[in-house]
Amino acid sequence: METALYSVRMRATLQGRHLAGAERLVAGSSAGSVAVALVQRAMNCTCGPADEIHCSLEQVDPDTVRCLRLPDLHTYRVEDWREGRRAARSLLVRAGVRDDIAAEALDLLGEGAAEGGGVMRGAVLMDALTGERLEADRSRGVRVSRMDLSAEFRPELARLLDAAGLAHHRVMEALVLAGKVLHAPGLVAELCWSDDPAYTTGYVAAPHGGYQRISALKPSGDPHGGRVFFVNRGTMPMAELVDYLERAPVLFNAVGRISPPVQWVDSDD
Ligand code: AMP
Repeated sequence: METALYSVRMRATLQGRHLAGAERLVAGSSAGSVAVALVQRAMNCTCGPADEIHCSLEQVDPDTVRCLRLPDLHTYRVEDWREGRRAARSLLVRAGVRDDIAAEALDLLGEGAAEGGGVMRGAVLMDALTGERLEADRSRGVRVSRMDLSAEFRPELARLLDAAGLAHHRVMEALVLAGKVLHAPGLVAELCWSDDPAYTTGYVAAPHGGYQRISALKPSGDPHGGRVFFVNRGTMPMAELVDYLERAPVLFNAVGRISPPVQWVDSDD
């Protein structure tokens, strides 16, 4: 039986601006074709084509891989992105983020969290109680890597997402990323929406809430987007947390519950 695994990573830029990125963790036999598919994706990017694409393959010791279960998936429908941001703020507060910090984080992604207001390549790391930014580099941020679905589980999840009307590679990849993030010790919540101007859906993920999609978190045509990881700083040294996010290999081989979409209802919590 083949056991060698490869971390495949792609990132693409146009005139120095982040365009696209992706990370996979796959068997050696499919690493080449996966790398080609990621490069093709960068070439066909709706905001591109990219003028610089980096793709790297790195062998990973299979004995270090943790097998985990994906979080539950919920979808909230909102009237527009303003209601979406109210919903996100409320879900972040439920997860343990201070209300004013949640509001600040939403504004930060809306304006562009990189130096000078651009889009970051990775995520903001934010103290959930003080709002302090903890990432070492405000353009790169923290890039979660070395995570994927197991090869056996991938078709099953694809079938389940298809049946739920969610057959988009973005949903699958974001679910995997959020799954890894939610298993990090001291992680309070994740906030995300895409920098793709045409993709307005985003999510709040939290250890008890799961992966909670929100149908609109920005107006169509807006090129801003990003991720914020809210952390409880007392739980674990930040260097260890970042090492887990960026380097610990994780494969998902089981699904959480996939709930049908519901209309978001504002409440006073
Ligand atoms: P995407 O969902 O791919 O459109 O990504 C939205 C934003 O999330 C990007 O602009 C980055 O700031 C951030 N991001 C993308 N991939 C990662 C990753 N692997 N780790 C951390 N942040 C990421």
